[in-house]
Amino acid sequence: LDAVNPWVLSVDIGGTWTRFAALDRAGKLIARTQRPTGSEGSHDDVRAIWKALLADLTGQLSAAWASEPSAVGVGATGPIECESGRIFAPPNTGNGLAGLALVFEFNQLTGAPVAVERDTNAALLAERAVGAGVGFDELVYLTVSTGVGGAAMSRGELLRGRNGGAMEVGHIVVERDGPLCGCGRNGCLEAVASGPSLAVAARQRSGELEANVLRSMLDTDERFTGASVDSAARAGDPVARSIVARAGAAIASAVVDLANAFDPDLIILGGSVAAAHPEWIGHARAALSLLALEPTRYSVRVAPAGLGDDGVLMGAAIRAWQIAPST
Ligand SMILES: [Zn+2]
Repeated sequence: LDAVNPWVLSVDIGGTWTRFAALDRAGKLIARTQRPTGSEGSHDDVRAIWKALLADLTGQLSAAWASEPSAVGVGATGPIECESGRIFAPPNTGNGLAGLALVFEFNQLTGAPVAVERDTNAALLAERAVGAGVGFDELVYLTVSTGVGGAAMSRGELLRGRNGGAMEVGHIVVERDGPLCGCGRNGCLEAVASGPSLAVAARQRSGELEANVLRSMLDTDERFTGASVDSAARAGDPVARSIVARAGAAIASAVVDLANAFDPDLIILGGSVAAAHPEWIGHARAALSLLALEPTRYSVRVAPAGLGDDGVLMGAAIRAWQIAPST
């Protein structure tokens, strides 16, 4: 039995995909699998998906590895209560996840101890350990993808708030009369800059020009998304370009707000929408040097996330090893 290597189960529950991975003690990913999250189904449907994912994953492990994980780390889309891992109705997904207490659920599934973090917190833990945040203790993380979220660390410790809800920065208002957000308010950062919000804005403005690129894409592309708006912008469509510029300006403004609020060493910009717009890093730097308060404006840096899609899995594994029995 001594020859059998321990591993932890790392889980990333996103609005679209749920990913399971096995990581060794050094943080190396040794197996992975994913399936659609299935949040439009029932709790039992979601549990069946998790059971199948675990079987997929353990089926990939050779006899050199233990048959069961030493611990489980879960990074899940918010809002979430991190002690129990209870998920509240997420603005971006169906209700299949709402009300599930992830610590209980994954303990039932595996028999192992379970730690749960909001996905953005897990991503920041990983960025500080092995990504863009190595060497920094005062960190802010902003992610722009299907939703907009964030995390913050001071003196190397995550800022969680009372319930684990701290830094839901997608829901700070950047345009008081802006588009309606999933949370019920108007003009949240998420309603202006997330991938789906770009597509919503494009649909609303599709009638502005007679024969523009965007219009023809809307007519032909049934799965019209934020990425469609990006390609229309790259093709020179003026409406698409103004929608993307508005999102970039909102992000740059939020970065200045976060710099003023937290005085961090570094603000890390992550998520698929931000990754598709590397120019937003430059816009954010320019805004900081002009608009952030002194002396923060001279010290704060901005950098793209270093870990991409795997950040949540890697951060959840860090939490799992922290609670794994040390036998
Ligand atoms: Zn909102």
